[in-house]
Amino acid sequence: MMTQPQAGDETAEGFVAASSIDDVRRLVRQARAQSRRIGCVPTMGALHAGHVSLFEVCRRHADFIVATIFVNPTQFGPQEDFQRYPRPLADDLRAAQAAGVDLVFTPDAETIYPEGFDTFVEVGGLSSVLEGEIRPGHFRGVATVVLKLFQIVQPDVAVFGAKDYQQQAVLRQMTRDLNLPVEIVTALTIREPDGLAMSSRNAYLSPKERKSALVLSESLALAAARLANGDFDLGAIATAMREHLASGAGVQPEYALIVDPDTLEPLSAPQPRMTALVAARLGTTRLIDNREIVLDEPS
Ligand code: AMP
Repeated sequence: MMTQPQAGDETAEGFVAASSIDDVRRLVRQARAQSRRIGCVPTMGALHAGHVSLFEVCRRHADFIVATIFVNPTQFGPQEDFQRYPRPLADDLRAAQAAGVDLVFTPDAETIYPEGFDTFVEVGGLSSVLEGEIRPGHFRGVATVVLKLFQIVQPDVAVFGAKDYQQQAVLRQMTRDLNLPVEIVTALTIREPDGLAMSSRNAYLSPKERKSALVLSESLALAAARLANGDFDLGAIATAMREHLASGAGVQPEYALIVDPDTLEPLSAPQPRMTALVAARLGTTRLIDNREIVLDEPS
């Protein structure tokens, strides 16, 4: 009879789920003693094909893959979806095992934030614009938990999704500024067949909202097409993106911008590499998406 992996169990294939820091440290030490390169993929669970692709990318850079599953309270605002965020742990453990993850770290909130916890990481300017402006304190929570996860797992490499574009930019800056010995890899956004970026939050969408949500990826495609056609009026393109977002039934646009890929500053003139970013609200659900735009070299 197949038994499903439970936290703390070690299966014949070597898959382990651990909820204590000591267990994680011990297992990572063992892997390192076997000269294995340690990779880490932080997640909040409710795993989907986007997360699985991160595990696969991680496997190309490391040979002991640690996935972390932790719905991090400090990155949610008081009015946000912390309570209702999906937590299908048994499904997640099965998905992680099937995807070749070696160790899943599933700490509870007290393990990460014990009584008296009072130290936070603030990444400067990058944290205060766009998502940071709309979600004050969000990146402080993200940077703090990721630094803690890095301290616990001590990975050689960590993989984040381009889907959360600003997040990977903030974490790259933290890694650089604090001299963390971790290579940061950013993996491509995985999409549904119709173009919607996969997200654990897509589960909140009603069938009607799910249809409307397509305006996010469409507005990014619109920007890419206009730039590819030699239309370099970035202000007009951003306006058209925003209008396209607003054309979706029940969609409230939050931002639609073309920015520098590293500084995230809005651009007034085109450059070889740009990133188009959008955010919108559909009912009680917030969705974000982005697309890298590379202009062809003039031949
Ligand atoms: P989350 O569980 O939503 O916090 O995401 C965990 C990691 O998965 C983050 O690095 C995300 O950027 C990444 N991720 C989420 N959705 C996708 C996606 N559709 N494609 C690629 N990576 C993703």
